[in-house]
Amino acid sequence: MINNNLPNVLGRELPSSIEFINEKCLSLEQKVTYEWVPTLCSICGGYGHLEATCKKKDAGAKKWVPKK
Ligand SMILES: [Zn+2]
Repeated sequence: MINNNLPNVLGRELPSSIEFINEKCLSLEQKVTYEWVPTLCSICGGYGHLEATCKKKDAGAKKWVPKK
């Protein structure tokens, strides 16, 4: 049985490893690498940059808070 949590690409919680039980009932940890991790700005909700470089931050835009 493989317990594989799909990466949440809309949030920013991409697991760096996943844990699963192999056929011998051993718990294994599999490191996950991402070739491309989307950068999501929490201020404007746009991809490709972070809050620190958000151009809308200084323009007085409403802060965009992701729902949990
Ligand atoms: Zn932004």
